[in-house]
Amino acid sequence: MAIWNLGSINADYFYRVPHLPGPGETIAATDLTRGLGGKGANMSVAAARAAAHVAHIGAVGSDGAWAVERLTEYGVDTRRIQTVDTATGHAIITLDSRGENAIVLFPGANMNISQNAVGLALTEAEQGDILLMQNETSQQAFAAETGSKMGLRIAYAAAPFSTESVGAVLPFLDILILNKIEMAQLHLATGLMPSADMGVDTVIVTLGADGCALYDRSAGWVPQHFPAVPVTAVDTTGAGDTFTGYVLAALDRGMTMPDAIRLAAKAAALMVTRYGTADVIPDLKEVLDLG
Ligand code: AMP
Repeated sequence: MAIWNLGSINADYFYRVPHLPGPGETIAATDLTRGLGGKGANMSVAAARAAAHVAHIGAVGSDGAWAVERLTEYGVDTRRIQTVDTATGHAIITLDSRGENAIVLFPGANMNISQNAVGLALTEAEQGDILLMQNETSQQAFAAETGSKMGLRIAYAAAPFSTESVGAVLPFLDILILNKIEMAQLHLATGLMPSADMGVDTVIVTLGADGCALYDRSAGWVPQHFPAVPVTAVDTTGAGDTFTGYVLAALDRGMTMPDAIRLAAKAAALMVTRYGTADVIPDLKEVLDLG
């Protein structure tokens, strides 16, 4: 079995600055680091570290070869990543001495993934494989509809949240993963609630340090709560992406949903004890060593 992840690939540029620049101001950064980012890339790395076969479907510009190489190093199958004539998606993150940040995000190549490339990649998928998506790329609705017709299991992490984007894929979804803020936004916009039939068999609402709630058709939508693993959090960036990648990898390997969630909660807990994103996502051995 395999996971096909239609997902974003970003370069995250972290600039340390004495203070965040104001309008018209130029300031010198004291340090620059570049990391692999994007929710899509993070989820691919998480699922690969959880020992799944993950084929990433996405796009970078000619400046993004290093990001593709890094994904390959992390065990992701990168053969369906297109190189397009736009800059690789990137985030310019300025960080001041108090830990405040200001971010400029350029979606770039992530929004230029072609329907052809998605269609071609999915011809290689097999019934029962998982198609994963988030909301940082083009072609989500097309991929969801195509994958659904092919008998793939369609999973969607509704981040960053957009009512329109969730609405476009919702009829095709088997698994919806979202945090409590995104769930509240969805409820506000549509009236949908996970404790009633949303048209999706499985809904997982993540609750940060409070764990997550699973709503499943087979359980009559009665919520099942799973606690988080207690740790001292230092950086919660990428916790949700790690959780999602691990849940799907575990499902792909035939684990039950409750077991997949318990494994993913351990991986996400380890993740919040570390600074960074894709580069520090724990592998399966580290997660299993937690006991
Ligand atoms: P979130 O996207 O913040 O809701 O977090 C996703 C998952 O990461 C949660 O369901 C938890 O399993 C885990 N997680 C997030 N924050 C923490 C934390 N402070 N301590 C332990 N686990 C956490």
